[in-house]
Amino acid sequence: MVAQGAPLSLSRRSLLATSARVVGVGTLASWLGCLAAPMDGAAAIAAALTPDRADLTPSQALEKLLDGNQRFVHRQRQNPHQDLSRLSQVAQTQTPFAAILSCADSRVIPEIIFDQGIGDLFVVRGAGNLATRQGIASQEFGTLVLGARVLMVLGHSRCGAVKAALSGVALPGQIDSLVEAIKPAVDDSANQTGDRLDNAIKMNVQRQVKKLAMSPVLGRLVEQGQLQLVAGYYNLDTGKVSVLG
Ligand SMILES: [Zn+2]
Repeated sequence: MVAQGAPLSLSRRSLLATSARVVGVGTLASWLGCLAAPMDGAAAIAAALTPDRADLTPSQALEKLLDGNQRFVHRQRQNPHQDLSRLSQVAQTQTPFAAILSCADSRVIPEIIFDQGIGDLFVVRGAGNLATRQGIASQEFGTLVLGARVLMVLGHSRCGAVKAALSGVALPGQIDSLVEAIKPAVDDSANQTGDRLDNAIKMNVQRQVKKLAMSPVLGRLVEQGQLQLVAGYYNLDTGKVSVLG
């Protein structure tokens, strides 16, 4: 998931080590300067670390993502960046244009449904597409350090994790922790008209987007116009991804 198979521990030391490879020593030095300075941390770090992606605005990145989904839906996949020749282009560095926080559901595969390939998407997956602490950290890395311009939380129809939270049945092991995290979305959507499960799924996506927006790092990128946070919903029957308002 992270460049050169580095462990995704975002302790300062490991982030520095990874960043040294990703953004180069000169940039890293300036970041170190930022860290040493009295911190208006996120702004200074963002300025020092974010790769130059002037070629792509957040709205263009979203358009690129949705265009890929249109190709998928209309059986016009181009399967870009999926053969061995792509490896040499991204072996030393990665600059994914989009970051996705999606459910772990085996039917929701970002690279396929957005018609993208190796090095295009920075993907974090887990049942119920929850913005956990580590998930947020990963996405801070994918956007701030690697330069993804759009970050989409992607829920989907008939999500089993949300269904479990809706049923209220006690589940074994740590599955219950998922239910606990999704339960507020079930409660918040309880009075909405329409399909109860679908409402809870969409509310859960919106809640995770809000959670991501509370990260000072991601919030600042949004404020600076370098990142767009988006709620998405994948229809298991049609393959279409809709942006939730
Ligand atoms: Zn799911």
